[in-house]
Amino acid sequence: MNGRVIPTSEALVSAMEPIYLGIFEGIKAYVEGDVLSEGKLNVFGWKQHVDRLFRSAEVDGLAMPYSKEELMRAVKETIKANGYKRNTYIQPRVWPKAGKQEDSHVVVPTWGFETLLGRDNPLFGEERRFMVSSWRRLSSDALPPQAKSWANYANSALARREARRCGYDNAVFLDRRGFVSESTGACLMTVRDGKVITPPVTASILESVTRGCFIEFIPDLRVPVEVRDITRVELYASDEAFLCGTGGECTPITSVDDIKFGDQYPGPVTTKIAEYYSDILAGNVAKYRSWLTPV
Ligand code: PMP
Repeated sequence: MNGRVIPTSEALVSAMEPIYLGIFEGIKAYVEGDVLSEGKLNVFGWKQHVDRLFRSAEVDGLAMPYSKEELMRAVKETIKANGYKRNTYIQPRVWPKAGKQEDSHVVVPTWGFETLLGRDNPLFGEERRFMVSSWRRLSSDALPPQAKSWANYANSALARREARRCGYDNAVFLDRRGFVSESTGACLMTVRDGKVITPPVTASILESVTRGCFIEFIPDLRVPVEVRDITRVELYASDEAFLCGTGGECTPITSVDDIKFGDQYPGPVTTKIAEYYSDILAGNVAKYRSWLTPV
């Protein structure tokens, strides 16, 4: 925190700090070789995440007191200090100092997480029932969806709470035009007639690092990817649907508004993509080794 490795219990700030004006990133480091084992860690998509962090700071007018290299050093030191040998989540946070907009606090918390990926991982195939939220995804004429700011997550919290209240696991947002946007903390991809379809950045989505990588690697599996608007009814008619994101990884969805996708769950295309993605994350695909930064 602010340049020092300290125990979480000492990472304290005043209750008067405007943390709600802050931005953050969600990044993951995966175990080399097999995401379900223990070993050496590699950070996935560091360049894309740190570039987005700096872009979010610029959009929201926040000072960034450290360079990208210094932030990477902080990530490495924090992981080393914790002695992590399993998959690790990294969440750099930046917010303006109280009364001093020209300076920011920077903290890099890390913690372990359980992955949905990896062959035979029972978490992957759990049932996930979604609804189309009655809340629309925030729109760029009010708040920039492309900036990863805490403020944007108030929108997600409303939709998730509504979904839970209605007996669903989570929600899909429509954008203000009525086209499919994304979920509350991950982007959405659908499969129809063997083709993956995902909404464009102009559908009020966060410009997801994972989505960018998926668009690049899915064609390797001889599955074409189309980036275009999706209507609500088209979503219902999908053979498969899944989330993609750092947190969500590749998460299959069972149904939306109680309309089930396809005959098989998780779907064959989703499963193939998830398996390839876990190989990429584990460093087993030479072509995408450059997405991994060793800790
Ligand atoms: N959309 C939203 C609203 C999110 O919170 C996230 C998670 N950061 C994503 C999409 C996925 O983005 P990424 O792949 O960069 O994690």
